[in-house]
Amino acid sequence: MTQIKKVTVLGTGVLGSQIAFQTAYSGFDVTAYDISAEVLDQARKRFAVLATTYQDEVDGATAGKTAETIGRIALSADLGEAVADADLVIEAVPEVLKIKQDTYQKLGKLAPARTIFATNSSTLLPSDIKDFTGRPDRFLALHFANRVWKFNTAEVMGTPDTDPAVFETVTGFASQIGMVPIPIHKEKAGYVLNSLLVPFLNAAADLAAGGYAEPEDVDKVWRIATGAPMGPFQIYDIIGLNTPYNILSHGDAHAQEIAAWMKENYIDKGRLGVASGAGFYTYPQAD
Ligand code: NAD
Repeated sequence: MTQIKKVTVLGTGVLGSQIAFQTAYSGFDVTAYDISAEVLDQARKRFAVLATTYQDEVDGATAGKTAETIGRIALSADLGEAVADADLVIEAVPEVLKIKQDTYQKLGKLAPARTIFATNSSTLLPSDIKDFTGRPDRFLALHFANRVWKFNTAEVMGTPDTDPAVFETVTGFASQIGMVPIPIHKEKAGYVLNSLLVPFLNAAADLAAGGYAEPEDVDKVWRIATGAPMGPFQIYDIIGLNTPYNILSHGDAHAQEIAAWMKENYIDKGRLGVASGAGFYTYPQAD
């Protein structure tokens, strides 16, 4: 079985930059690929910001260690060059099926036969992509959570074609980069995390939009009665209200009523969550 030494990350956006940084921080040689030199310039800035964040938030992350991390990340806008010697490619390109399929079609021809491919897709099933890889036995999903250094789950989910040895190799790799790997036995949209979180958040919004209880009281019940550190509306504020609103507004008639309530009372008033200074709660402005 392939021993993972060299890792290439496709896409250097929000998640790709974090995955590349965390992998390099854990001692692996990493190549970060994106579509142009301009985007790679932005990636350099993302890595510099991550270096500061790690120093602030990760025990033992000294300036020296984060500088070494950046030194282990090569940047490339040439897909063939980026994957020429990769043992594992982790794909974090936009969540658009056609972009993913096109990417894998090219990748399958350019990468060595030994290379394992893993998609970080949040909502697509790996079965919708596998036939474009040219190697369905060496393809699976490896799903990270945003802020990988802190919220360090890695959900591992194959298709019926994934070789169990590949599944095991990727699970082992996830541990090596400091993640807690979670095996998912069958394909499931939303994995474990979003299969639990989305209905939970929807139920909370239903209580507040239906006039049953105030958001802060819903949170209070959840925190006090279960010992959880945060209630659902505190979580909404961290995620930002736009994404949940988009999900709800594509749902059934009841979900659309909840979406309208969220829009009228919060989004239209500029209350989008922590990043905008207010959401269900008000936050001190960072300046
Ligand atoms: P993003 O938009 O921040 O980044 C996407 C990157 O891919 C950009 O740098 C873009 O230039 C690049 N890109 C565009 N077209 C490309 C192509 N053809 N080939 C290679 N790169 C290309 O997106 P993101 O939030 O980092 O999400 C990336 C993936 O990670 C998605 O599948 C998403 O579902 C998943 N994900 C996101 C989160 C999150 O919280 N943002 C969490 C878990 C998983």
